[in-house]
Amino acid sequence: MRGETFLQSLDDGRTVWLGGRNIGRVTDHPALRGTLQTLKSLFDMLDTPGVQEEVGYLVPGKDRYAHAAFLVPHTPEQLAKRSRAFARWSSEVNGMMSRLSDYARSLVTGWYAAREELSRLDPGFSRKITAYYEEARDRDLFLTTAIIDPQIDRSKTLDDERIAERFLHVVRETEDGIVIRGAKMIATGAPYTHDFILSSFLPFRPHERKHAHVMIVPANSKGLHIVCRESFAAQDEFNHPLSARYDEMDAVLFFDDVLVPWERVLMYGDVQKVLQMRANRTANSLAFHQNVVRYIAKLEFVTGVAFAVAEAIGADAYLHVQEKLGELLTQIDTIKALAIASEVKAQYNETGVLVPDLSYIETARNIGTRIYPRAVDILRQVGAGGFVQVPSSVEDFYGPISELMHRYYEGATVSAEKKVQLFKLAWDLTGSPLGSRHELYERYYAGDPVRGYANLYNQFDKKKLTGPIWQLLKESSKRGLTKSF
Ligand SMILES: Cc1cc2nc3c(=O)[nH]c(=O)nc-3n(C[C@H](O)[C@H](O)[C@H](O)COP(=O)(O)OP(=O)(O)OC[C@H]3O[C@@H](n4cnc5c(N)ncnc54)[C@H](O)[C@@H]3O)c2cc1C
Repeated sequence: MRGETFLQSLDDGRTVWLGGRNIGRVTDHPALRGTLQTLKSLFDMLDTPGVQEEVGYLVPGKDRYAHAAFLVPHTPEQLAKRSRAFARWSSEVNGMMSRLSDYARSLVTGWYAAREELSRLDPGFSRKITAYYEEARDRDLFLTTAIIDPQIDRSKTLDDERIAERFLHVVRETEDGIVIRGAKMIATGAPYTHDFILSSFLPFRPHERKHAHVMIVPANSKGLHIVCRESFAAQDEFNHPLSARYDEMDAVLFFDDVLVPWERVLMYGDVQKVLQMRANRTANSLAFHQNVVRYIAKLEFVTGVAFAVAEAIGADAYLHVQEKLGELLTQIDTIKALAIASEVKAQYNETGVLVPDLSYIETARNIGTRIYPRAVDILRQVGAGGFVQVPSSVEDFYGPISELMHRYYEGATVSAEKKVQLFKLAWDLTGSPLGSRHELYERYYAGDPVRGYANLYNQFDKKKLTGPIWQLLKESSKRGLTKSF
């Protein structure tokens, strides 16, 4: 089964800093064990008859299933297949892991699907992306992205030497490749990824060519340090059922003169070309489509927990609670409708790839930054103080106060034990370090939401909406309804 192969492949000499030391074999570390077991079971699905058809597709010419994130959609059925695969993996982890590599894999698939168009920027692009796409697909590579530059002083630009030195840049070009130095943050899944997709969203100017790049760098590259945040993984499943399984680790990356072979440098040095590649519609649509589909599973999970909590304490009898639970359902439908719209309105690109509609996807990603904090807030209001009215240990149910425990922790519709279990789960979702991290994730994973919304406005063809207004005013003037100016 390929889950085991995945785990074994991570023993590759990578440098991962956690708890003040280089942990070496990531599979042995207690902070990562639960998460890796979850990933192992996802990888195994591709070898499981009856399931592999749902999350994967048979690669033409090879008697082997690959994850559907690698499927280039040429028909509505193939686009729907990608969507079903994202949904299945996501619901398998209750929406609680967002970077299962299907997003970054989709970005690679998108660049591969747009290779003809992108080869016009660099003739070597098609060869490089084809080789990498096939390797990633056939070796089930786990991939993640690291796009954002370190948060040092956001008021400064690359004109500031301190900033320019610390943001990831090329220090040397050699016959074998480029040597890079600097940092990137955040890279979710970093300790157990095979490769990083690195780029930057800086609004480059022509002389900033050393910072302009799109490249793929192996996690075990010499000189690459993966610096993890504090682990939120819990060993105690009773108190933290989600943290025990789903802590997808976030990390910062230090590149201390890392050599990147030319074959993995997809674009570099020409600012305009790098910006064009980063804005490629085919790649971005295929990748961001995954973001929206996986988000539905997460909203469904939060909603399910909120319903269960309301039922467990009889709070669902109250109108204001019903109103809030109804709001959660509208959230799910809003994102679902946008995902469906993006698929129904998908358009073929110049080489016949069916590309989901990016504007609906962007709307879903923007709304998503506000919906999730609201969903968590609703859950908190439904359970209220119940989340801290829970015992610290399951042992209390079996010790000297067992009878009292069963009597006083009883719920409206559930036993005391079930109710405590449910409230522990809800707290892990809303109040634990893992829960807080998820709220932060949904606000920021797609970049700064302030600039996200502003971009919607800035890039919109405003005349479409302002035209009729000016027309109406003109007609009113003509008809003498207002004084003409
Ligand atoms: C848990 C988590 C996991 C993530 N995982 C990944 C990942 O795997 N890969 C990845 O690529 N990204 C990931 N991200 C997203 C990314 O790393 C950033 O968090 C996100 O792009 C926002 O940037 P920032 O955190 O540096 O905030 P900043 O950009 O520093 O923003 C801080 C504040 O300053 C304001 N601000 C800063 N600059 C400007 C400006 N120019 N104009 C206006 N306002 C400004 C912002 O509005 C905000 O209020 C993740 C984010 C989180 C929270």
